[in-house]
Amino acid sequence: AGGMPDHGDSEALATLHRVFGYQAFRGQQEEIIEHVVAGGDAVVLMPTGGGKSLCYQIPALVRPGTGIVVSPLIALMQDQVDALRALGVSAGFINSTQDFDERRVVEAQFLAGELDLLYLAPERLRLEGTLDLLARGKISVFAIDEAHCVSQWGHDFRPDYLALSLLGERWPDVPRIALTATATRTTHREITERLGMPQARHFEASFDRPNIQYRIVPKADPKKQLLSFLREEHAGDAGIVYCLSRNSVEKTAEFLTRNGIEAVPYHAGLDAGTRAAHQSRFLREEGLVVVATIAFGMGIDKPDVRFVAHLDLPKSVEGYYQETGRAGRDGLPSTAWMAYGLQDVVQQRKMIQTGEGDEAFRRRAAAHLDAMLALCETAQCRRGQLLAYFGQEPGAGGCGNCDTCLTPPETWDGTVAAQKLLSTVVRLKRERGQKFGAGQIVDILLGRRTAKVIQFDHDQLSVFGIGEELSEAEWRGVARQLLAQGLLAVEGEYGTLVLTEESGTVLRREREVPLRKEPAKRVAAAKSSSA
Ligand code: ADP
Ligand code: ZN
Repeated sequence: AGGMPDHGDSEALATLHRVFGYQAFRGQQEEIIEHVVAGGDAVVLMPTGGGKSLCYQIPALVRPGTGIVVSPLIALMQDQVDALRALGVSAGFINSTQDFDERRVVEAQFLAGELDLLYLAPERLRLEGTLDLLARGKISVFAIDEAHCVSQWGHDFRPDYLALSLLGERWPDVPRIALTATATRTTHREITERLGMPQARHFEASFDRPNIQYRIVPKADPKKQLLSFLREEHAGDAGIVYCLSRNSVEKTAEFLTRNGIEAVPYHAGLDAGTRAAHQSRFLREEGLVVVATIAFGMGIDKPDVRFVAHLDLPKSVEGYYQETGRAGRDGLPSTAWMAYGLQDVVQQRKMIQTGEGDEAFRRRAAAHLDAMLALCETAQCRRGQLLAYFGQEPGAGGCGNCDTCLTPPETWDGTVAAQKLLSTVVRLKRERGQKFGAGQIVDILLGRRTAKVIQFDHDQLSVFGIGEELSEAEWRGVARQLLAQGLLAVEGEYGTLVLTEESGTVLRREREVPLRKEPAKRVAAAKSSSA
């Protein structure tokens, strides 16, 4: 109070200072907030950590009534509400974790006009009871968080989100703001259409995270590679290591601990108490490493995460971006490091093939994986590729802060190698009933008389030993890239390699196959180049 407010001192800015204690808005926050405060609808595309929450929390505080926040992250509601209450904001939530009495208290507060913010799970809005409740109170704004869940093409589709278009129908005068961190152009369009927000203004923040160095290295001995990465570049730093399975989470955490790096596991198989304890240690302590499945991280807001490492391939670019985006929120140099190999491709292709879901689901999953593989195999700037994926213009030239920019990969003409490998696959296909994976193919190409080679007389094949000019790692690289390019496919639960329709064009010499050379040594420039 005191003093005449000037033009720059809006109620929104005053709220930012008074309630949240921040000096200034970030990026487009101010524009978005002013637009919503004035009653306009908004679709906000902002990367994780960009500061989406304030975009609806401040309008909820400035406009009369309660702001309704629709969020699928039930597990985080308690934390969000606690954090707001600590700031003196009156907030509550209604979800399935509450008993009847708890819910009644929150409902009464809402009806009495005592709540600034009310968090709801999307499924609650399908209940007439909830809609009646909302109709009896006063609403300042609807915020639809994680709005990409409305997209059937995304990996987070929630059918309950489809019902959210009724909010605009029943409350035409209440502004709506849809927010997401993961949206390609298509998803963005879908959000607008399915939530019925044709007149919404669109705000799109840059997805570039210039302080994150992206690196993807060929997987050889992943745990050891991880260990040297941590020792050489991130000793004593806090970070997250993502693994696909609970088992590898446990093993990797043990391995790091045994080797003198403090690490704790986090996955859905641990009891809630252990998970909460490990999470809060990560937030509080300096330099703790969390080894986790993707169950970890949603809503984690730790500014000084110095690295995010992937020991297994994420299923989509959205997932990769979201997970790596947990690094470096404080803007300081950080690393997104991933080890990626042939088995990742085989395993994920296999999972898509033999997993649940209908044909359309499989096609979508395969398209997501293909985009991820393209990012792994690119010889171009990784950041440029990421930004292009999200429909944003990469800057001219490379970024100078990813492995392909720092040490441009060499490409080579892999046509003959591809022909040799595919011919071997053809030969083995004739072996009735037998299933052979990449390992056997490579052994044959290298002319190795292993027990399994001798057992099946594979040393008698005309292709036996025709690939001695390349190393095992190089052959695995060839197989991996052929798989990534769709020139080779995986079949069945054993990961049998088979030809695709496209393979013929290589075998018939109708096309060339440029391949990326396997780098001899890894980039270790993170600290020296940016610190
Ligand atoms: P998102 O939901 O987009 O992932 P959050 O809303 O959780 O991001 O914000 C990320 C972090 O940035 C939070 O710690 C938040 O308090 C902080 N933050 C957001 N806006 C500002 C601001 N204008 N000034 C300072 N800190 C901010
Ligand atoms: Zn680059």
